[in-house]
Amino acid sequence: MKPIERLLLENKAWAQEHLAQDPHFFEKLARERRCDFFWIGCSDSRVHADEITNTEPGRIFVHRNIANMVINDDMTLLSALEYAVDHLLVGHIIVCGHYGCGGINAAMRKAKPDQLMLNKWLKHIKDVYRLHRHALEMISPYAERENRLVELNVIEQVHNLAQTSTVQKAWATRQGPELHGWVYGLGNGIIREIIQLDAGTPLDPIYEYDLTSLT
Ligand SMILES: [Zn+2]
Repeated sequence: MKPIERLLLENKAWAQEHLAQDPHFFEKLARERRCDFFWIGCSDSRVHADEITNTEPGRIFVHRNIANMVINDDMTLLSALEYAVDHLLVGHIIVCGHYGCGGINAAMRKAKPDQLMLNKWLKHIKDVYRLHRHALEMISPYAERENRLVELNVIEQVHNLAQTSTVQKAWATRQGPELHGWVYGLGNGIIREIIQLDAGTPLDPIYEYDLTSLT
Protein backbone atom coordinates (compact mmCIF):
# COMPACT_ATOMS: atom_id res chain seq x y z
CA MET A 1 0.00 0.00 0.00
CA LYS A 2 1.27 3.47 -0.88
CA PRO A 3 1.71 5.88 2.07
CA ILE A 4 -0.93 8.21 0.60
CA GLU A 5 -3.46 5.34 0.45
CA ARG A 6 -2.70 4.53 4.08
CA LEU A 7 -3.77 8.07 5.07
CA LEU A 8 -7.24 7.52 3.60
CA LEU A 9 -7.53 4.08 5.17
CA GLU A 10 -6.49 5.44 8.57
CA ASN A 11 -9.07 8.21 8.16
CA LYS A 12 -11.83 5.60 7.83
CA ALA A 13 -10.53 3.77 10.90
CA TRP A 14 -10.41 7.05 12.84
CA ALA A 15 -14.00 7.93 11.88
CA GLN A 16 -15.22 4.45 12.84
CA GLU A 17 -13.43 4.63 16.17
CA HIS A 18 -15.19 7.88 17.04
CA LEU A 19 -18.57 6.52 15.92
CA ALA A 20 -18.06 3.41 18.05
CA GLN A 21 -17.57 5.65 21.12
CA ASP A 22 -20.38 8.06 20.23
CA PRO A 23 -22.74 7.39 17.29
CA HIS A 24 -23.59 11.13 17.12
CA PHE A 25 -19.99 12.40 17.29
CA PHE A 26 -19.84 13.89 13.79
CA GLU A 27 -23.42 15.22 13.85
CA LYS A 28 -22.59 17.11 17.04
CA LEU A 29 -19.28 18.34 15.64
CA ALA A 30 -20.97 19.60 12.47
CA ARG A 31 -23.71 21.34 14.48
CA GLU A 32 -21.78 23.07 17.19
CA ARG A 33 -18.46 24.82 17.33
CA ARG A 34 -17.27 26.44 20.53
CA CYS A 35 -14.04 28.07 19.44
CA ASP A 36 -12.60 30.17 22.19
CA PHE A 37 -9.01 29.95 20.97
CA PHE A 38 -7.19 31.14 17.88
CA TRP A 39 -3.86 29.35 17.48
CA ILE A 40 -1.01 30.69 15.36
CA GLY A 41 1.54 27.91 15.22
CA CYS A 42 4.45 26.61 13.19
CA SER A 43 3.81 24.37 10.18
CA ASP A 44 6.19 21.82 11.72
CA SER A 45 4.55 18.38 11.49
CA ARG A 46 5.42 17.60 15.13
CA VAL A 47 3.42 20.45 16.69
CA HIS A 48 -0.36 19.98 16.44
CA ALA A 49 -2.50 22.38 18.46
CA ASP A 50 -5.27 19.90 19.33
CA GLU A 51 -2.93 17.06 20.14
CA ILE A 52 -0.42 18.81 22.40
CA THR A 53 -3.20 20.50 24.38
CA ASN A 54 -5.34 17.35 24.49
CA THR A 55 -8.28 19.27 23.01
CA GLU A 56 -11.30 17.86 21.17
CA PRO A 57 -11.85 18.95 17.54
CA GLY A 58 -13.94 22.13 17.29
CA ARG A 59 -12.33 24.14 20.10
CA ILE A 60 -9.24 25.70 18.48
CA PHE A 61 -9.28 27.74 15.26
CA VAL A 62 -5.85 27.22 13.71
CA HIS A 63 -3.49 29.07 11.40
CA ARG A 64 0.00 27.70 10.79
CA ASN A 65 3.01 28.95 8.84
CA ILE A 66 6.78 28.56 8.99
CA ALA A 67 7.95 29.77 12.43
CA ASN A 68 4.51 31.03 13.56
CA MET A 69 4.88 34.50 12.09
CA VAL A 70 2.46 37.45 12.27
CA ILE A 71 3.31 39.52 9.23
CA ASN A 72 1.25 42.59 8.56
CA ASP A 73 0.69 41.98 4.85
CA ASP A 74 0.00 38.24 5.08
CA MET A 75 -3.61 38.03 3.91
CA THR A 76 -4.09 34.41 4.97
CA LEU A 77 -3.12 35.21 8.55
CA LEU A 78 -4.95 38.55 8.68
CA SER A 79 -8.19 37.15 7.27
CA ALA A 80 -8.09 34.22 9.72
CA LEU A 81 -7.39 36.70 12.53
CA GLU A 82 -10.31 38.92 11.53
CA TYR A 83 -12.66 35.94 11.37
CA ALA A 84 -11.48 34.60 14.74
CA VAL A 85 -11.74 37.96 16.51
CA ASP A 86 -14.80 39.54 14.87
CA HIS A 87 -16.96 36.47 14.14
CA LEU A 88 -15.89 33.65 16.45
CA LEU A 89 -15.26 36.22 19.21
CA VAL A 90 -12.37 34.20 20.61
CA GLY A 91 -11.22 35.07 24.09
CA HIS A 92 -7.60 34.05 23.54
CA ILE A 93 -5.06 34.18 20.74
CA ILE A 94 -2.02 31.97 21.17
CA VAL A 95 1.22 32.31 19.24
CA CYS A 96 2.98 29.00 19.81
CA GLY A 97 6.60 28.56 18.74
CA HIS A 98 8.77 25.56 19.50
CA TYR A 99 12.37 24.82 20.34
CA GLY A 100 14.23 23.12 17.49
CA CYS A 101 12.32 25.16 14.90
CA GLY A 102 13.74 24.66 11.40
CA GLY A 103 12.58 28.14 10.33
CA ILE A 104 14.48 29.81 13.19
CA ASN A 105 17.54 27.67 12.51
CA ALA A 106 17.50 28.57 8.80
CA ALA A 107 17.06 32.29 9.55
CA MET A 108 20.24 32.29 11.66
CA ARG A 109 22.31 31.01 8.74
CA LYS A 110 23.33 32.52 5.42
CA ALA A 111 20.41 32.35 2.99
CA LYS A 112 20.65 30.23 -0.12
CA PRO A 113 20.16 32.61 -3.08
CA ASP A 114 17.91 30.21 -5.03
CA GLN A 115 15.23 30.00 -2.30
CA LEU A 116 13.39 33.12 -3.43
CA MET A 117 10.14 32.77 -1.50
CA LEU A 118 11.61 31.13 1.59
CA ASN A 119 14.19 33.89 1.86
CA LYS A 120 11.48 36.57 1.82
CA TRP A 121 9.75 34.76 4.68
CA LEU A 122 12.91 34.13 6.70
CA LYS A 123 13.89 37.78 6.35
CA HIS A 124 11.21 38.63 8.93
CA ILE A 125 12.93 36.33 11.44
CA LYS A 126 16.31 37.85 10.56
CA ASP A 127 14.79 41.24 11.43
CA VAL A 128 13.91 39.89 14.90
CA TYR A 129 17.52 38.69 15.24
CA ARG A 130 18.85 42.10 14.26
CA LEU A 131 16.58 43.80 16.80
CA HIS A 132 18.00 41.61 19.59
CA ARG A 133 21.48 40.99 18.15
CA HIS A 134 23.38 42.30 21.17
CA ALA A 135 21.57 40.13 23.74
CA LEU A 136 21.58 37.09 21.45
CA GLU A 137 25.27 37.21 20.68
CA MET A 138 26.10 37.23 24.41
CA ILE A 139 24.58 33.74 24.61
CA SER A 140 26.58 30.60 24.03
CA PRO A 141 26.51 27.79 23.12
CA TYR A 142 24.89 28.36 19.75
CA ALA A 143 21.96 26.01 20.52
CA GLU A 144 20.95 28.21 23.48
CA ARG A 145 21.14 31.30 21.31
CA GLU A 146 18.81 29.57 18.87
CA ASN A 147 16.38 28.68 21.68
CA ARG A 148 16.39 32.29 22.83
CA LEU A 149 15.60 33.47 19.29
CA VAL A 150 12.61 31.07 19.30
CA GLU A 151 11.37 32.85 22.46
CA LEU A 152 12.13 36.38 21.24
CA ASN A 153 10.43 35.63 17.94
CA VAL A 154 7.25 34.56 19.75
CA ILE A 155 7.35 37.74 21.85
CA GLU A 156 7.75 39.89 18.71
CA GLN A 157 4.87 38.11 16.97
CA VAL A 158 2.60 38.70 19.98
CA HIS A 159 3.48 42.40 19.77
CA ASN A 160 2.80 42.31 16.01
CA LEU A 161 -0.67 40.95 16.83
CA ALA A 162 -1.31 43.74 19.32
CA GLN A 163 -0.35 46.23 16.63
CA THR A 164 -3.09 45.08 14.22
CA SER A 165 -6.23 47.16 13.85
CA THR A 166 -8.28 43.97 14.38
CA VAL A 167 -6.91 43.41 17.89
CA GLN A 168 -6.90 47.10 18.85
CA LYS A 169 -10.56 47.50 17.80
CA ALA A 170 -11.56 44.41 19.79
CA TRP A 171 -9.61 45.60 22.85
CA ALA A 172 -11.46 48.93 22.68
CA THR A 173 -14.92 47.49 22.13
CA ARG A 174 -15.06 44.17 24.01
CA GLN A 175 -11.96 44.19 26.24
CA GLY A 176 -10.56 41.05 24.64
CA PRO A 177 -9.00 38.82 23.42
CA GLU A 178 -5.99 38.04 25.60
CA LEU A 179 -2.78 37.44 23.65
CA HIS A 180 -0.46 34.63 24.73
CA GLY A 181 3.05 33.71 23.60
CA TRP A 182 3.96 30.07 24.22
CA VAL A 183 6.94 27.88 23.41
CA TYR A 184 6.58 24.13 23.08
CA GLY A 185 9.45 21.79 23.95
CA LEU A 186 9.80 19.04 21.36
CA GLY A 187 12.08 17.18 23.78
CA ASN A 188 9.65 17.05 26.73
CA GLY A 189 6.20 17.89 25.32
CA ILE A 190 5.75 20.80 27.74
CA ILE A 191 4.48 24.28 26.80
CA ARG A 192 5.92 27.37 28.55
CA GLU A 193 4.06 30.67 28.58
CA ILE A 194 6.58 33.46 27.99
CA ILE A 195 4.36 36.51 27.45
CA GLN A 196 0.73 37.53 27.96
CA LEU A 197 -0.84 40.80 26.84
CA ASP A 198 -4.32 41.58 28.15
CA ALA A 199 -6.73 44.03 26.57
CA GLY A 200 -5.60 47.57 27.28
CA THR A 201 -1.90 46.76 27.65
CA PRO A 202 -0.15 50.00 26.66
CA LEU A 203 1.49 49.79 23.24
CA ASP A 204 4.25 51.85 21.75
CA PRO A 205 2.16 54.89 20.70
CA ILE A 206 3.66 54.84 17.22
CA TYR A 207 1.60 51.66 16.55
CA GLU A 208 -1.67 52.86 18.09
CA TYR A 209 -4.77 53.35 15.93
CA ASP A 210 -7.06 56.31 16.48
CA LEU A 211 -10.14 54.52 17.84
CA THR A 212 -11.96 57.55 19.29
CA SER A 213 -14.91 57.02 16.91
CA LEU A 214 -15.45 53.48 18.32
CA THR A 215 -15.52 54.32 22.02
ZN1 LIG B 1 8.99 25.44 13.49
